[in-house]
Amino acid sequence: MGRTPITVAYGDGIGPEIMEAVLHVMERAEAPVDPETIQIGKEQFEAGWTSGIPDEAWESLRRTGVFLKAPITTPQGGGYKSLNVTIRTTLGLYANIRPSMSYHPFISTKHPDMDLVVVRENEEDLYTGIEHRQTPEVVQSVKLISRPGSERVIRHAFDYARENDRKKVTCITKDNIMKLSDGLFHQVFEEVAEEYPEIETEHQIVDIGLANIADRPQHFDVVVLPNLYGDIASDIAAQISGGVGLAGSSNIGDQHAMFEAIHGSAPDITGKGIANPSGLLHGAVQMLQHIGEPETAERIHNAWFKTLEDGVGTPDIAQGEGVSTMDFARAVADRLGQEPGQIEPVRYAKQERKSKNYVPPQVFDRPNDVKRELTGVDVHVCADDIEAEDLGQQLEAAAGAGWSLSVITNRGANAYPQSGDKVFTTDHWRCRFYPSGDDVLTNGDIRRLLEVVEAAGLDWIKVDNLYDFDGIPGYSEAKK
Ligand code: NAD
Repeated sequence: MGRTPITVAYGDGIGPEIMEAVLHVMERAEAPVDPETIQIGKEQFEAGWTSGIPDEAWESLRRTGVFLKAPITTPQGGGYKSLNVTIRTTLGLYANIRPSMSYHPFISTKHPDMDLVVVRENEEDLYTGIEHRQTPEVVQSVKLISRPGSERVIRHAFDYARENDRKKVTCITKDNIMKLSDGLFHQVFEEVAEEYPEIETEHQIVDIGLANIADRPQHFDVVVLPNLYGDIASDIAAQISGGVGLAGSSNIGDQHAMFEAIHGSAPDITGKGIANPSGLLHGAVQMLQHIGEPETAERIHNAWFKTLEDGVGTPDIAQGEGVSTMDFARAVADRLGQEPGQIEPVRYAKQERKSKNYVPPQVFDRPNDVKRELTGVDVHVCADDIEAEDLGQQLEAAAGAGWSLSVITNRGANAYPQSGDKVFTTDHWRCRFYPSGDDVLTNGDIRRLLEVVEAAGLDWIKVDNLYDFDGIPGYSEAKK
């Protein structure tokens, strides 16, 4: 069997120390990989690459399709792009998988029975970086959830459960509040779940869902979440299992995959030779599974368990003084072929590695024949020092008989027509118009509305068209 080329980055801070330790264990385990090194991170940021990744690094990443990455130091100050976000979006790494289990009684935890896997959507949601300051007083971040993006991460979570003999998948959203965005993620979850009848499913609202993960993690098996909730859930799970120094993660796309520790470059302990290489080692174990080397992954993982059981650990997890990073790696390598006595050994099944030219099946239920009908418009206006009543009357006078001003809200609360107590207001007003007659509404009608609003001296800053999809409103109702 040939060796699999992999791209390796030693990273910053403790990165080189833990990467050296992990490569030592892989070499001693005779893992059939051919590592090639790329330089990314702090020095490349300082050399002028705004995302910390030079062109030649991309060439290696694209060619091997498999990336083992040590942590990177994110430079302070503006002008830099997040290296991790750039890699995820450029290589299409849509699913982030983080297993968190307890190693009781060898690593202290309040949850000896926990063994859960967080599958986090990795590209969308509030992480698209679409933000605007719209008025002197108000900024917005766009939360973007797509049907194809949701479908492929949710499908990945179910496939992961099936391949790893997991029994239940829990979806966590806030769809009682964000009925359209989180509602879509939840709806796609229910649709995909039907294709996996042997797997139990449930849905929890994010506030109680994350409280449950923190309080009784043993209830969960596989958990799938949109990006932001997934980010938070995976750190909670890692922390309560014994600490962020232990967990590794995979970032999976159709053609590429990246494996890493979940912690950062730990500048406070850099150069001391005491960093724990376990998180990156777990990333490497997931990588070996991914490239179709489950036996080597299993041997390393069980040797690591045995090392813990024998009481060997770096200072962050040791009962006593602890050993150095490299001594810990040598201790793991010395135990290759041994199995733990108390912790249940892991068993990895053979998984088919997708070829580099793999084209995913077109599974998305693309709603091509949906009838989209323009029914109204939200015109956002910047105005300070004005009463809602005055703004409403000015807009109605400007718009004329062809339009009906249904409502004006400020920060989502109804300001006009005033139906109860006067609401607290800022300089950012959302003004919802519907046409008065039955004629078909066009973008031209909206342009003319904006012209008359502007001519009346009102400063419109943004427009959201209101559409019905197959007769169902594709926008939230104004709050009462
Ligand atoms: P950090 O995870 O580096 O450190 C937090 C604490 O945990 C520190 O006390 C550190 O000593 C300890 N720690 C972390 N890893 C350890 C290990 N393997 N062994 C023993 N102790 C360990 O978080 P931070 O200090 O917030 O971030 C430092 C830098 O890392 C920042 O520049 C940050 O942006 C970056 N970072 C990078 C990644 C990544 O590349 N994936 C992830 C997180 C943070």
